[in-house]
Amino acid sequence: MQYTVRDRFLRYVQVDTEADPLSATSPSSEKQKWLTEIILEELAEMGIKAQTNESGYIYASLPSNCGPGKDKVFFCAHLDTAPDCSGKDVKPIVHSDYQGQDLVLPDDTTQVLTSTKYPALKNKIGHDLITASGLTLLGSDDKSGVAIIVDAFYQMLNNPNLPHGEVKMLLTTDEEIGRGVAHVDLDLLDADYGYTLDGGDLGSIEFENFSANKAVIDINGVSAHQAMPRENGKCHKNCF
Ligand SMILES: [Zn+2]
Repeated sequence: MQYTVRDRFLRYVQVDTEADPLSATSPSSEKQKWLTEIILEELAEMGIKAQTNESGYIYASLPSNCGPGKDKVFFCAHLDTAPDCSGKDVKPIVHSDYQGQDLVLPDDTTQVLTSTKYPALKNKIGHDLITASGLTLLGSDDKSGVAIIVDAFYQMLNNPNLPHGEVKMLLTTDEEIGRGVAHVDLDLLDADYGYTLDGGDLGSIEFENFSANKAVIDINGVSAHQAMPRENGKCHKNCF
């Protein structure tokens, strides 16, 4: 079946893949693998060979159609969504041919998207916009990246006149809780370089990143307010 990138996106956002920062397992929530399974089926339908691992990652590749010796490039995105807002029962709404009007989200009418609050909307006049309905996140971070990569593979496969070297896909889980690359097998990925599709403006490329390292420090001692002296817990100024 032929899907558009929009079809894929609308399907993916309705799958709850919220990461769980309190879980030590990988993936942190088993439901992230629901989306892994859906995408593996789509890739199989296209005839693309793909592999997964116990964390729900997806590795896939398209062979070069213009001979050997070309660099191998990978495209990466993440399947999970942030735990800051519910990812359950997401109801995406397509606002066709946006003309700058306020967008009131119907399931919570206090949620209004205006171009005053979000100036970037001014650059989207005439576009079709997709939002959530007001009670959940949309999950565009990063299901838009996932949909683009899967559809790009479909397009390359069906347009043999489009020359490309070997192209790889890497979809991971738990990026939102800092574990997105914890289980990447670089030998299996086998690429020269790659790009992550995740946020940012159309046409922009970022070439720096933070490490996402985390430290948890337990301190044993006596708790005191910052304005109090350490010796006796009494204020050293004339305050109460
Ligand atoms: Zn992201």
